Amino acid sequence: MQEFGFELALCADLEARRDAIVSRQLGGHVRGRRVLDVVCVEPGPGFADRAAITPESIPPAAIGSAVGPGHARYWKEAFDCDPDRAERALERALACGFFERERHRSRTYVRQTARYPDWYDRIVAIENKPDLDRPGALETQLLTDVKLGLVDEVVLATASHVTGAHRNRIPEAVGIWEFDPDTGDRVVVREAVSLPTGASGVEILDRGSARTEVRIASAREKRRARLRLAERAYGKGWRTYDHPACARVEPDEAGLPYCPWKGRIVRPVEECGSDCGGHEPAERPPADVERLRAERSPWEPEPEGKRRRQSGLDRFS
Ligand code: SF4
Repeated sequence: MQEFGFELALCADLEARRDAIVSRQLGGHVRGRRVLDVVCVEPGPGFADRAAITPESIPPAAIGSAVGPGHARYWKEAFDCDPDRAERALERALACGFFERERHRSRTYVRQTARYPDWYDRIVAIENKPDLDRPGALETQLLTDVKLGLVDEVVLATASHVTGAHRNRIPEAVGIWEFDPDTGDRVVVREAVSLPTGASGVEILDRGSARTEVRIASAREKRRARLRLAERAYGKGWRTYDHPACARVEPDEAGLPYCPWKGRIVRPVEECGSDCGGHEPAERPPADVERLRAERSPWEPEPEGKRRRQSGLDRFS
């Protein structure tokens, strides 16, 4: 089983079973370089208010700025970060509709279009390792996630049969699922332990045989990193691929790029093209990402705020 197909099948299954935002390949660190395979963000009390703002990710620097929903502020006095980062955040916040602008004496003043809500609850990170006999850096990756405690739960998902020897190598707090990507059957071999996300954590930056480099991540830094993670997940989702320009591909109802010629889900960017023996050049089938995501998850593609802005723009076109 290839890791890409396993990951997509798991994302589709989670999306079908959970009322959550599912995303993949997201930064799960404070200072390090950890990339989480799959992330499930469970909605909190303000989810509908968040969904009403924009379908895109809102830049955390804009959320953390002194710009509020009340009176407009001169943007340069509202950010407490590097000026280039502030300007990028400003532009993105304006483009996605989180900020609106006014001009005062040739200066740009901005305000939030809506108060940023407390919209997410628990975050679950899932590390995929279809074949446990080829673990790579699995142990270090899971230990990094547990020690940092950025997410509420860490789970290992595998297609292998999990033996006692495997379990002993996996940190105790990590949950274990045996997942069959063909049938969607999922067996919980071990429940995950809830991690202390509100406290400081230890971030493993480098783990060598002779020494391990770590740093303390404060509770505040973790809060910011969780916000960044949740926002990235909301904007990105998990269908981040195009289907191949091949007559053989048959996307399934969840939008997975299934190839009957290979008898499995394929990774189009690596496996498809004239080098493939079964390739039959054709129009690329539409990915339908927005429609599928809107139908199958709580993500909102056309929120009220966006519709209002568009009708406002139409009046001037
Ligand atoms: S290019 Fe090959 S692997 Fe890709 S869809 Fe076509 S037959 Fe399948």
